Amino acid sequence: MSAQFDIAVIGAGVVGSAIARDLSRYDLKVVLLEANTDLGDESSKGNSALMTEGHDTPAGSLERDLVVRGYQRYMTEAPQLGLPMRKTGAIMLAWTDEQRATVEKLVEEVHSEGFHNVHLLEGYEVARRWPQFRPGVLCAQWMPDEIIADPFSTPYAYVLDAVTNGVAFWRPWRVSRAERNARGWRLSNNRGDVLDAGLVINAGGIRADMVESLVGHSDFVMRPRRGQYILLDKPARAIHDIIAYPTPTPASRGILISPTIFGNVLVGPTAEEVEDRDDRGVTEAGLRALRQAIDDMVPSLRGMPVNTIYAGMRPATNHSDYQIIPRFDERWLTVAGIRSTGFSGALGIAEHVMSLVFPNVFDKQPVNPVRGVRVPDLSETSIRPWADPEKIGADPAYTDMLCHCERISVGEVRDALNSPVPPASIKALKRRTRAMFGRCQGFYCGARVQAMFDEAKVKRDA
Ligand SMILES: Cc1cc2nc3c(=O)[nH]c(=O)nc-3n(C[C@H](O)[C@H](O)[C@H](O)COP(=O)(O)OP(=O)(O)OC[C@H]3O[C@@H](n4cnc5c(N)ncnc54)[C@H](O)[C@@H]3O)c2cc1C
Repeated sequence: MSAQFDIAVIGAGVVGSAIARDLSRYDLKVVLLEANTDLGDESSKGNSALMTEGHDTPAGSLERDLVVRGYQRYMTEAPQLGLPMRKTGAIMLAWTDEQRATVEKLVEEVHSEGFHNVHLLEGYEVARRWPQFRPGVLCAQWMPDEIIADPFSTPYAYVLDAVTNGVAFWRPWRVSRAERNARGWRLSNNRGDVLDAGLVINAGGIRADMVESLVGHSDFVMRPRRGQYILLDKPARAIHDIIAYPTPTPASRGILISPTIFGNVLVGPTAEEVEDRDDRGVTEAGLRALRQAIDDMVPSLRGMPVNTIYAGMRPATNHSDYQIIPRFDERWLTVAGIRSTGFSGALGIAEHVMSLVFPNVFDKQPVNPVRGVRVPDLSETSIRPWADPEKIGADPAYTDMLCHCERISVGEVRDALNSPVPPASIKALKRRTRAMFGRCQGFYCGARVQAMFDEAKVKRDA
Protein backbone atom coordinates (compact mmCIF):
# COMPACT_ATOMS: atom_id res chain seq x y z
CA MET A 1 0.00 0.00 0.00
CA SER A 2 1.25 3.51 -0.77
CA ALA A 3 2.04 5.96 2.04
CA GLN A 4 -0.97 8.07 3.04
CA PHE A 5 -0.75 11.78 3.88
CA ASP A 6 -3.29 14.49 4.51
CA ILE A 7 -1.14 17.10 2.75
CA ALA A 8 1.85 16.91 0.40
CA VAL A 9 3.87 20.10 -0.10
CA ILE A 10 5.91 20.01 -3.30
CA GLY A 11 9.15 21.99 -3.04
CA ALA A 12 11.46 22.72 -0.12
CA GLY A 13 12.45 26.23 -1.12
CA VAL A 14 11.98 28.95 1.45
CA VAL A 15 8.26 29.12 0.60
CA GLY A 16 7.40 25.40 0.75
CA SER A 17 9.54 25.05 3.90
CA ALA A 18 7.68 27.87 5.66
CA ILE A 19 4.35 26.32 4.65
CA ALA A 20 5.42 22.88 5.93
CA ARG A 21 6.49 24.47 9.23
CA ASP A 22 3.12 26.15 9.76
CA LEU A 23 1.30 22.94 8.80
CA SER A 24 3.27 21.08 11.48
CA ARG A 25 1.22 22.98 14.09
CA TYR A 26 -1.86 20.96 13.11
CA ASP A 27 -2.77 17.37 13.84
CA LEU A 28 -2.28 16.24 10.24
CA LYS A 29 0.05 13.91 8.35
CA VAL A 30 2.17 16.14 6.17
CA VAL A 31 5.02 15.35 3.76
CA LEU A 32 7.42 17.85 2.22
CA LEU A 33 8.74 16.57 -1.12
CA GLU A 34 11.94 17.96 -2.62
CA ALA A 35 13.32 17.03 -6.03
CA ASN A 36 16.91 17.86 -5.08
CA THR A 37 18.97 16.09 -2.45
CA ASP A 38 18.77 19.12 -0.18
CA LEU A 39 16.39 21.91 0.73
CA GLY A 40 16.74 25.45 -0.60
CA ASP A 41 18.80 24.41 -3.59
CA GLU A 42 17.07 26.45 -6.33
CA SER A 43 15.87 30.09 -6.24
CA SER A 44 16.21 30.23 -2.48
CA LYS A 45 19.99 29.77 -2.54
CA GLY A 46 20.86 32.69 -4.81
CA ASN A 47 19.20 35.79 -3.40
CA SER A 48 20.29 39.02 -1.72
CA ALA A 49 18.82 37.95 1.65
CA LEU A 50 17.23 41.32 2.31
CA MET A 51 14.33 41.07 4.70
CA THR A 52 12.24 43.91 3.41
CA GLU A 53 9.36 45.68 5.13
CA GLY A 54 7.46 45.70 1.86
CA HIS A 55 7.29 49.34 0.75
CA ASP A 56 9.08 48.50 -2.49
CA THR A 57 6.34 46.04 -3.53
CA PRO A 58 3.34 47.19 -5.59
CA ALA A 59 0.70 48.86 -3.40
CA GLY A 60 -2.56 46.92 -3.32
CA SER A 61 -0.96 43.63 -4.39
CA LEU A 62 -1.14 40.31 -2.57
CA GLU A 63 2.67 40.43 -2.61
CA ARG A 64 2.62 43.67 -0.57
CA ASP A 65 0.26 42.21 2.06
CA LEU A 66 2.23 39.00 2.45
CA VAL A 67 5.68 40.62 2.50
CA VAL A 68 4.53 43.09 5.17
CA ARG A 69 3.22 40.18 7.24
CA GLY A 70 6.27 38.01 6.48
CA TYR A 71 8.60 40.74 7.75
CA GLN A 72 6.55 41.15 10.96
CA ARG A 73 6.59 37.43 11.64
CA TYR A 74 10.31 37.15 10.88
CA MET A 75 11.09 39.87 13.42
CA THR A 76 9.44 37.77 16.13
CA GLU A 77 10.18 34.22 15.01
CA ALA A 78 13.71 34.42 13.60
CA PRO A 79 15.27 35.10 17.04
CA GLN A 80 13.31 32.16 18.48
CA LEU A 81 14.83 29.94 15.79
CA GLY A 82 18.34 31.29 16.45
CA LEU A 83 18.41 33.04 13.06
CA PRO A 84 20.62 36.13 12.94
CA MET A 85 19.64 39.44 11.41
CA ARG A 86 21.13 42.92 11.26
CA LYS A 87 19.14 46.10 10.90
CA THR A 88 21.62 47.90 8.65
CA GLY A 89 18.94 50.04 7.02
CA ALA A 90 18.71 50.72 3.31
CA ILE A 91 19.28 53.86 1.29
CA MET A 92 18.09 54.79 -2.19
CA LEU A 93 20.33 57.43 -3.73
CA ALA A 94 19.66 60.25 -6.20
CA TRP A 95 22.41 62.02 -8.12
CA THR A 96 20.34 63.79 -10.78
CA ASP A 97 17.36 66.16 -10.64
CA GLU A 98 15.21 63.53 -12.30
CA GLN A 99 16.22 60.95 -9.69
CA ARG A 100 15.62 63.49 -6.94
CA ALA A 101 12.05 64.02 -8.17
CA THR A 102 11.50 60.24 -8.19
CA VAL A 103 12.88 59.79 -4.66
CA GLU A 104 10.77 62.66 -3.28
CA LYS A 105 7.66 61.18 -4.89
CA LEU A 106 8.45 57.69 -3.56
CA VAL A 107 8.93 58.97 0.00
CA GLU A 108 5.57 60.74 -0.19
CA GLU A 109 3.91 57.62 -1.58
CA VAL A 110 5.23 55.21 1.04
CA HIS A 111 4.25 57.63 3.82
CA SER A 112 0.70 57.75 2.47
CA GLU A 113 0.72 53.92 2.38
CA GLY A 114 1.52 53.76 6.09
CA PHE A 115 5.30 53.22 6.12
CA HIS A 116 6.25 56.05 8.44
CA ASN A 117 9.81 55.10 9.29
CA VAL A 118 11.04 56.10 5.83
CA HIS A 119 12.83 59.45 5.53
CA LEU A 120 14.02 61.89 2.93
CA LEU A 121 17.65 62.85 3.57
CA GLU A 122 19.40 65.78 1.93
CA GLY A 123 22.68 65.17 0.11
CA TYR A 124 24.86 66.86 2.76
CA GLU A 125 23.40 64.55 5.43
CA VAL A 126 24.12 61.49 3.26
CA ALA A 127 27.70 62.67 2.64
CA ARG A 128 28.22 63.25 6.36
CA ARG A 129 26.94 59.83 7.42
CA TRP A 130 28.14 57.71 4.50
CA PRO A 131 31.21 59.30 2.91
CA GLN A 132 31.80 56.22 0.75
CA PHE A 133 29.14 57.20 -1.81
CA ARG A 134 30.15 58.85 -5.08
CA PRO A 135 30.14 62.60 -4.44
CA GLY A 136 27.20 64.65 -5.63
CA VAL A 137 24.29 62.82 -3.97
CA LEU A 138 21.34 65.25 -4.08
CA CYS A 139 19.06 63.37 -1.73
CA ALA A 140 18.14 59.87 -0.60
CA GLN A 141 15.32 57.75 0.74
CA TRP A 142 16.48 56.30 4.08
CA MET A 143 14.78 53.15 5.36
CA PRO A 144 16.28 52.31 8.77
CA ASP A 145 14.17 49.18 9.32
CA GLU A 146 15.54 47.18 6.37
CA ILE A 147 17.39 44.05 7.40
CA ILE A 148 20.00 41.60 6.18
CA ALA A 149 19.53 37.96 7.20
CA ASP A 150 20.84 34.44 6.54
CA PRO A 151 19.47 33.07 3.24
CA PHE A 152 20.65 29.50 3.87
CA SER A 153 19.82 28.92 7.53
CA THR A 154 16.33 30.38 7.12
CA PRO A 155 14.79 27.59 4.98
CA TYR A 156 16.85 25.07 6.96
CA ALA A 157 15.35 26.37 10.23
CA TYR A 158 11.84 26.11 8.78
CA VAL A 159 12.41 22.50 7.64
CA LEU A 160 14.12 21.50 10.89
CA ASP A 161 11.18 22.95 12.84
CA ALA A 162 8.67 21.20 10.57
CA VAL A 163 10.46 17.85 10.87
CA THR A 164 10.87 18.20 14.65
CA ASN A 165 7.12 18.74 14.85
CA GLY A 166 6.18 15.71 12.79
CA VAL A 167 6.43 16.57 9.08
CA ALA A 168 8.06 13.93 6.87
CA PHE A 169 10.78 15.37 4.61
CA TRP A 170 11.45 13.18 1.59
CA ARG A 171 14.35 13.92 -0.76
CA PRO A 172 15.29 13.48 -3.48
CA TRP A 173 11.65 12.99 -4.47
CA ARG A 174 10.79 14.73 -7.73
CA VAL A 175 7.06 14.53 -8.38
CA SER A 176 6.81 13.37 -11.98
CA ARG A 177 3.21 12.18 -12.09
CA ALA A 178 -0.05 13.13 -10.36
CA GLU A 179 -3.27 11.16 -10.71
CA ARG A 180 -6.58 12.09 -9.16
CA ASN A 181 -8.04 9.52 -6.76
CA ALA A 182 -11.02 9.40 -4.41
CA ARG A 183 -9.20 11.14 -1.54
CA GLY A 184 -7.10 13.63 -3.46
CA TRP A 185 -3.98 12.79 -5.43
CA ARG A 186 -1.61 9.90 -6.02
CA LEU A 187 1.88 11.33 -6.60
CA SER A 188 4.76 9.35 -8.11
CA ASN A 189 8.41 9.93 -8.84
CA ASN A 190 10.62 8.49 -11.56
CA ARG A 191 11.83 5.67 -9.30
CA GLY A 192 8.27 4.35 -9.10
CA ASP A 193 7.65 5.44 -5.49
CA VAL A 194 4.09 6.56 -4.82
CA LEU A 195 2.14 8.33 -2.09
CA ASP A 196 -1.43 9.50 -1.63
CA ALA A 197 -2.32 12.96 -0.35
CA GLY A 198 -5.66 14.55 0.47
CA LEU A 199 -4.37 17.96 -0.60
CA VAL A 200 -1.37 18.95 -2.72
CA ILE A 201 0.36 22.31 -2.34
CA ASN A 202 2.57 23.15 -5.30
CA ALA A 203 5.45 25.36 -4.11
CA GLY A 204 7.72 24.31 -6.97
CA GLY A 205 9.38 27.72 -7.49
CA ILE A 206 11.07 28.02 -10.85
CA ARG A 207 9.55 24.65 -11.86
CA ALA A 208 6.04 25.28 -10.49
CA ASP A 209 4.67 25.47 -14.05
CA MET A 210 5.98 21.97 -14.76
CA VAL A 211 4.23 20.65 -11.66
CA GLU A 212 1.04 22.45 -12.73
CA SER A 213 1.23 20.86 -16.17
CA LEU A 214 1.13 17.39 -14.53
CA VAL A 215 -2.49 18.13 -13.59
CA GLY A 216 -3.45 20.12 -16.68
CA HIS A 217 -3.20 23.66 -15.26
CA SER A 218 -1.62 26.48 -17.25
CA ASP A 219 -2.58 29.73 -15.51
CA PHE A 220 0.88 31.26 -15.81
CA VAL A 221 4.02 31.06 -17.89
CA MET A 222 7.43 31.08 -16.19
CA ARG A 223 9.66 33.99 -17.15
CA PRO A 224 12.91 33.07 -15.38
CA ARG A 225 14.89 36.18 -14.46
CA ARG A 226 18.56 35.73 -13.73
CA GLY A 227 20.41 37.81 -11.18
CA GLN A 228 24.20 37.86 -11.24
CA TYR A 229 26.36 38.80 -8.28
CA ILE A 230 29.90 39.64 -7.26
CA LEU A 231 30.72 38.80 -3.66
CA LEU A 232 33.51 41.00 -2.31
CA ASP A 233 35.88 39.83 0.39
CA LYS A 234 35.41 40.91 4.00
CA PRO A 235 37.68 43.99 4.07
CA ALA A 236 35.06 45.67 1.84
CA ARG A 237 32.67 45.89 4.78
CA ALA A 238 34.98 48.37 6.52
CA ILE A 239 34.18 50.72 3.62
CA HIS A 240 30.53 49.92 3.07
CA ASP A 241 28.03 48.56 5.62
CA ILE A 242 24.55 49.58 4.49
CA ILE A 243 22.08 48.34 1.85
CA ALA A 244 22.39 50.87 -0.97
CA TYR A 245 20.69 51.11 -4.30
CA PRO A 246 20.20 53.70 -7.00
CA THR A 247 16.89 55.38 -7.76
CA PRO A 248 14.80 52.80 -9.62
CA THR A 249 13.70 53.33 -13.20
CA PRO A 250 10.44 51.98 -14.65
CA ALA A 251 12.52 49.11 -16.10
CA SER A 252 14.61 48.09 -13.11
CA ARG A 253 15.11 48.41 -9.39
CA GLY A 254 18.83 48.66 -10.05
CA ILE A 255 21.86 46.86 -8.70
CA LEU A 256 22.35 47.08 -4.97
CA ILE A 257 25.49 47.04 -2.88
CA SER A 258 24.90 45.49 0.51
CA PRO A 259 26.73 43.86 3.37
CA THR A 260 25.89 40.21 3.95
CA ILE A 261 25.16 38.63 7.31
CA PHE A 262 28.41 36.67 6.84
CA GLY A 263 30.50 39.86 6.71
CA ASN A 264 31.08 40.24 2.96
CA VAL A 265 29.76 42.86 0.57
CA LEU A 266 27.39 41.76 -2.18
CA VAL A 267 27.04 43.59 -5.49
CA GLY A 268 24.00 42.64 -7.56
CA PRO A 269 21.68 41.32 -8.76
CA THR A 270 21.32 42.00 -12.44
CA ALA A 271 17.84 41.37 -13.87
CA GLU A 272 17.82 39.47 -17.17
CA GLU A 273 15.00 37.43 -18.62
CA VAL A 274 16.51 34.16 -19.87
CA GLU A 275 15.07 31.30 -21.91
CA ASP A 276 16.64 28.50 -19.89
CA ARG A 277 15.58 28.38 -16.24
CA ASP A 278 18.78 26.52 -15.39
CA ASP A 279 21.12 29.03 -17.03
CA ARG A 280 22.82 30.32 -13.90
CA GLY A 281 25.93 31.32 -15.81
CA VAL A 282 27.80 34.52 -15.06
CA THR A 283 28.41 36.59 -18.19
CA GLU A 284 30.90 39.22 -19.22
CA ALA A 285 28.09 41.74 -19.73
CA GLY A 286 26.71 40.92 -16.29
CA LEU A 287 30.05 41.42 -14.60
CA ARG A 288 30.54 44.68 -16.48
CA ALA A 289 27.19 45.94 -15.20
CA LEU A 290 28.10 44.98 -11.64
CA ARG A 291 31.48 46.72 -11.87
CA GLN A 292 29.74 49.79 -13.27
CA ALA A 293 27.40 49.79 -10.26
CA ILE A 294 30.46 49.87 -7.97
CA ASP A 295 31.90 52.81 -9.92
CA ASP A 296 28.56 54.62 -9.88
CA MET A 297 27.77 54.16 -6.21
CA VAL A 298 30.80 53.29 -4.07
CA PRO A 299 33.94 53.90 -6.15
CA SER A 300 36.23 53.16 -3.21
CA LEU A 301 35.19 49.49 -3.49
CA ARG A 302 36.84 49.35 -6.92
CA GLY A 303 39.68 46.82 -6.85
CA MET A 304 38.50 45.12 -3.66
CA PRO A 305 39.27 41.39 -3.75
CA VAL A 306 36.44 39.20 -5.01
CA ASN A 307 35.44 36.03 -3.15
CA THR A 308 33.20 34.57 -5.80
CA ILE A 309 30.78 35.35 -8.63
CA TYR A 310 27.46 33.57 -9.08
CA ALA A 311 23.89 33.92 -10.29
CA GLY A 312 20.42 33.17 -8.93
CA MET A 313 17.16 32.66 -10.81
CA ARG A 314 13.94 34.47 -9.88
CA PRO A 315 10.79 32.35 -10.38
CA ALA A 316 8.98 35.18 -12.17
CA THR A 317 5.90 34.58 -14.31
CA ASN A 318 3.93 36.53 -16.90
CA HIS A 319 1.92 37.99 -13.98
CA SER A 320 3.23 40.78 -11.77
CA ASP A 321 1.70 39.41 -8.55
CA TYR A 322 2.15 36.16 -6.62
CA GLN A 323 0.16 33.27 -8.11
CA ILE A 324 -1.62 31.73 -5.12
CA ILE A 325 -4.51 29.80 -6.62
CA PRO A 326 -6.75 27.60 -4.45
CA ARG A 327 -8.67 24.86 -6.26
CA PHE A 328 -10.07 23.03 -3.29
CA ASP A 329 -12.71 21.20 -5.32
CA GLU A 330 -9.68 19.58 -6.96
CA ARG A 331 -7.75 19.34 -3.68
CA TRP A 332 -4.93 21.40 -5.18
CA LEU A 333 -3.33 24.69 -4.09
CA THR A 334 -0.80 26.53 -6.24
CA VAL A 335 1.74 28.81 -4.54
CA ALA A 336 3.89 30.12 -7.37
CA GLY A 337 5.37 33.19 -8.99
CA ILE A 338 7.07 34.21 -5.76
CA ARG A 339 9.65 36.03 -7.80
CA SER A 340 11.68 38.70 -5.99
CA THR A 341 10.45 38.84 -2.42
CA GLY A 342 9.91 35.24 -1.30
CA PHE A 343 12.63 35.35 1.32
CA SER A 344 10.81 38.23 3.04
CA GLY A 345 7.32 37.02 2.26
CA ALA A 346 7.63 33.31 3.11
CA LEU A 347 6.12 33.47 6.60
CA GLY A 348 3.34 35.77 5.36
CA ILE A 349 2.66 33.38 2.48
CA ALA A 350 2.58 30.43 4.89
CA GLU A 351 0.08 32.23 7.13
CA HIS A 352 -2.07 33.07 4.10
CA VAL A 353 -1.97 29.41 3.01
CA MET A 354 -3.11 28.35 6.50
CA SER A 355 -6.05 30.77 6.25
CA LEU A 356 -7.04 29.11 2.97
CA VAL A 357 -6.56 25.48 4.03
CA PHE A 358 -8.25 25.86 7.44
CA PRO A 359 -11.22 25.52 7.48
CA ASN A 360 -11.81 25.22 3.71
CA VAL A 361 -10.16 21.79 3.44
CA PHE A 362 -9.54 20.68 7.03
CA ASP A 363 -11.53 21.91 10.01
CA LYS A 364 -8.68 21.95 12.54
CA GLN A 365 -7.12 24.24 15.12
CA PRO A 366 -3.34 24.51 15.65
CA VAL A 367 -1.95 22.03 18.17
CA ASN A 368 0.17 23.38 21.02
CA PRO A 369 2.75 23.27 22.46
CA VAL A 370 5.20 23.26 19.58
CA ARG A 371 8.64 21.74 20.16
CA GLY A 372 11.02 24.63 19.52
CA VAL A 373 14.25 24.32 17.56
CA ARG A 374 17.26 26.58 17.14
CA VAL A 375 19.82 26.60 14.36
CA PRO A 376 23.45 27.72 14.77
CA ASP A 377 23.98 31.45 14.32
CA LEU A 378 26.39 31.70 11.36
CA SER A 379 26.57 35.49 11.25
CA GLU A 380 29.83 37.36 11.37
CA THR A 381 28.59 39.57 14.20
CA SER A 382 27.70 36.72 16.57
CA ILE A 383 30.17 35.15 18.99
CA ARG A 384 31.68 32.30 17.02
CA PRO A 385 31.87 28.97 18.89
CA TRP A 386 35.71 29.12 18.98
CA ALA A 387 35.44 32.45 20.83
CA ASP A 388 32.85 31.26 23.33
CA PRO A 389 34.54 30.10 26.57
CA GLU A 390 31.54 27.99 27.59
CA LYS A 391 31.43 26.14 24.29
CA ILE A 392 35.13 25.44 24.05
CA GLY A 393 35.24 24.48 27.72
CA ALA A 394 32.54 21.88 27.15
CA ASP A 395 33.86 20.61 23.82
CA PRO A 396 37.39 21.16 22.46
CA ALA A 397 36.20 20.25 18.94
CA TYR A 398 35.13 23.91 18.68
CA THR A 399 38.78 24.98 18.88
CA ASP A 400 39.94 22.57 16.16
CA MET A 401 39.83 24.97 13.21
CA LEU A 402 38.81 23.40 9.93
CA CYS A 403 38.02 26.32 7.61
CA HIS A 404 40.55 29.03 8.40
CA CYS A 405 39.09 31.64 6.04
CA GLU A 406 35.66 31.63 7.72
CA ARG A 407 36.97 30.24 11.01
CA ILE A 408 34.68 27.23 11.19
CA SER A 409 35.63 24.47 13.58
CA VAL A 410 35.42 20.68 13.39
CA GLY A 411 32.75 20.88 16.11
CA GLU A 412 30.44 23.00 13.96
CA VAL A 413 30.80 20.78 10.89
CA ARG A 414 30.24 17.69 13.04
CA ASP A 415 27.07 19.25 14.54
CA ALA A 416 25.73 20.07 11.07
CA LEU A 417 26.37 16.50 9.91
CA ASN A 418 24.54 15.14 12.98
CA SER A 419 21.42 17.27 12.35
CA PRO A 420 18.05 15.49 12.10
CA VAL A 421 17.99 17.09 8.62
CA PRO A 422 21.59 16.38 7.59
CA PRO A 423 23.15 18.05 4.54
CA ALA A 424 23.13 15.59 1.65
CA SER A 425 25.94 17.20 -0.36
CA ILE A 426 29.10 19.19 0.22
CA LYS A 427 27.36 22.27 -1.17
CA ALA A 428 24.58 21.81 1.37
CA LEU A 429 27.15 21.39 4.15
CA LYS A 430 28.73 24.68 3.05
CA ARG A 431 25.36 26.39 3.36
CA ARG A 432 24.80 24.92 6.84
CA THR A 433 28.20 25.92 8.24
CA ARG A 434 29.93 28.50 5.98
CA ALA A 435 32.91 26.10 5.76
CA MET A 436 34.60 26.53 2.34
CA PHE A 437 32.73 29.80 1.72
CA GLY A 438 35.78 31.96 2.34
CA ARG A 439 38.56 33.40 0.27
CA CYS A 440 40.14 30.04 -0.63
CA GLN A 441 36.74 28.54 -1.57
CA GLY A 442 37.77 25.23 0.00
CA PHE A 443 41.25 24.99 -1.56
CA TYR A 444 42.85 24.35 1.84
CA CYS A 445 40.07 22.78 3.89
CA GLY A 446 38.08 21.01 1.15
CA ALA A 447 39.69 17.59 1.56
CA ARG A 448 39.14 17.51 5.33
CA VAL A 449 35.55 18.73 5.01
CA GLN A 450 34.91 16.07 2.35
CA ALA A 451 36.40 13.37 4.61
CA MET A 452 34.10 14.36 7.49
CA PHE A 453 31.13 14.44 5.11
CA ASP A 454 31.96 10.98 3.68
CA GLU A 455 32.44 9.47 7.13
CA ALA A 456 29.08 10.81 8.35
CA LYS A 457 27.36 9.54 5.22
CA VAL A 458 28.82 6.05 5.61
CA LYS A 459 27.58 6.01 9.23
CA ARG A 460 24.10 7.20 8.22
CA ASP A 461 23.81 4.71 5.37
CA ALA A 462 25.02 1.77 7.51
C1 LIG B 1 18.80 37.17 -7.68
C2 LIG B 1 17.71 37.09 -6.66
C3 LIG B 1 17.66 38.01 -5.61
C4 LIG B 1 16.64 37.94 -4.67
N1 LIG B 1 16.67 38.76 -3.57
C5 LIG B 1 15.71 38.65 -2.63
C6 LIG B 1 15.77 39.43 -1.45
O1 LIG B 1 16.73 40.14 -1.20
N2 LIG B 1 14.74 39.36 -0.57
C7 LIG B 1 13.67 38.55 -0.79
O2 LIG B 1 12.75 38.56 0.01
N3 LIG B 1 13.62 37.73 -1.86
C8 LIG B 1 14.62 37.77 -2.78
N4 LIG B 1 14.59 36.96 -3.89
C9 LIG B 1 13.43 36.11 -4.11
C10 LIG B 1 13.48 34.79 -3.39
O3 LIG B 1 14.75 34.21 -3.44
C11 LIG B 1 12.43 33.88 -4.03
O4 LIG B 1 11.20 34.55 -4.04
C12 LIG B 1 12.28 32.58 -3.26
O5 LIG B 1 13.52 31.94 -3.13
C13 LIG B 1 11.31 31.67 -3.96
O6 LIG B 1 11.20 30.52 -3.17
P1 LIG B 1 10.36 29.27 -3.62
O7 LIG B 1 10.34 28.36 -2.47
O8 LIG B 1 9.08 29.72 -4.22
O9 LIG B 1 11.19 28.66 -4.84
P2 LIG B 1 12.49 27.73 -4.83
O10 LIG B 1 13.50 28.18 -3.89
O11 LIG B 1 12.89 27.60 -6.26
O12 LIG B 1 11.94 26.34 -4.31
C14 LIG B 1 11.14 25.50 -5.08
C15 LIG B 1 11.55 24.08 -4.77
O13 LIG B 1 10.66 23.19 -5.42
C16 LIG B 1 11.39 22.06 -5.83
N5 LIG B 1 10.66 21.39 -6.89
C17 LIG B 1 10.36 21.87 -8.11
N6 LIG B 1 9.70 20.95 -8.82
C18 LIG B 1 9.56 19.86 -8.02
C19 LIG B 1 8.97 18.58 -8.20
N7 LIG B 1 8.41 18.21 -9.35
N8 LIG B 1 9.02 17.69 -7.16
C20 LIG B 1 9.61 18.03 -5.98
N9 LIG B 1 10.18 19.24 -5.78
C21 LIG B 1 10.16 20.14 -6.79
C22 LIG B 1 12.70 22.67 -6.31
O14 LIG B 1 13.73 21.70 -6.37
C23 LIG B 1 12.94 23.75 -5.29
O15 LIG B 1 13.75 23.32 -4.22
C24 LIG B 1 15.62 36.98 -4.82
C25 LIG B 1 15.69 36.04 -5.85
C26 LIG B 1 16.75 36.06 -6.73
C27 LIG B 1 16.88 34.98 -7.76
